[in-house]
Amino acid sequence: LPQVASALSGLNRKQPAPAPDLAKFSLNDLRTAIQNGEIQAHYQPKLDVRTGVIKGVEALARWVRPDGSVIPPNRFIPVAEQYGMIHDLTLRIVEQACAQATQWNKRGLRLSMAINLSPQQLDSDQFVDDITKLIERHAVRADQIVWEITESSVVANLGTALGVLARMRLKGFGLSIDDYGTGFSSMQQLARIPFTELKVDRSFVHGAAQREHLRVILQSALEMANRLNLVTVAEGVEHLEDWRLLQDFGCVLGQGYLIARPMPGPDLPDWLRKNAQ
Ligand code: C2E
Ligand code: CA
Ligand code: CA
Ligand code: CA
Repeated sequence: LPQVASALSGLNRKQPAPAPDLAKFSLNDLRTAIQNGEIQAHYQPKLDVRTGVIKGVEALARWVRPDGSVIPPNRFIPVAEQYGMIHDLTLRIVEQACAQATQWNKRGLRLSMAINLSPQQLDSDQFVDDITKLIERHAVRADQIVWEITESSVVANLGTALGVLARMRLKGFGLSIDDYGTGFSSMQQLARIPFTELKVDRSFVHGAAQREHLRVILQSALEMANRLNLVTVAEGVEHLEDWRLLQDFGCVLGQGYLIARPMPGPDLPDWLRKNAQ
């Protein structure tokens, strides 16, 4: 199985945007959907910016309804968070992501697996206990998993979040600051947490090659993160000029529609084959 995806060969192959879905749902629909496994993880590749080699994927939740229509996470994640369903939902995603990583591992494709967490998951030790048990059932080690946590969800509850995240780090998990630059946290606050990765928000990445003020912010965020020994990631890369800029700025990993949209797990080996150098 080829492990190298060329950042350049896939460039001109524009993938069509998925059709928007305007279906409405009730709380009970969502509750049932979580129980019935309708919430599915799709995976978006994270590539080494310098070499184009795939290093990992980010798991992103989609609600695939029995009629085949798909509801995007921005519509149901906030509802799940507000109505006490996010714990179960996240565990379903973690379960799928671990099973998928195990399968890829067996084929010699060892990718780091990034999984998004909601603020509520930093409120107690329950989540760490649950994921630790869940992961032990799979042939995945903690150091293969990176939890993506937004700055705002950390700062919202710094006291308990600090303890929970320190425990996760001690278990060997990676910890990523997601959407960096959109919150109002100071580095002094973030530096208290043992983060391993910093993901610059796409609002500073998209179009950075064209706009000086974005470029300045992007470059200084990357420089600071590199000096703090954090793995740097840029999300939302849609243009080749922005990709080249990331190469110039020494950004480690890049992710975005330029490379690939999130896809079902079984499609990834095929995508890799098509984009192999
Ligand atoms: P996020 O964590 O910031 O994820 C990145 C989002 O940007 C994803 O949207 C991804 O599909 C999209 N994206 C990737 N590349 C590009 C690009 O080049 N251009 C543009 N415009 N967008 C790009 P998605 O999958 O719709 O997810 C939206 C948000 O929903 C995520 O933002 C995350 O906050 C949340 N989310 C998704 N899955 C989960 C989950 O399992 N748990 C939790 N708690 N939140 C999730
Ligand atoms: Ca994320
Ligand atoms: Ca993000
Ligand atoms: Ca986000």
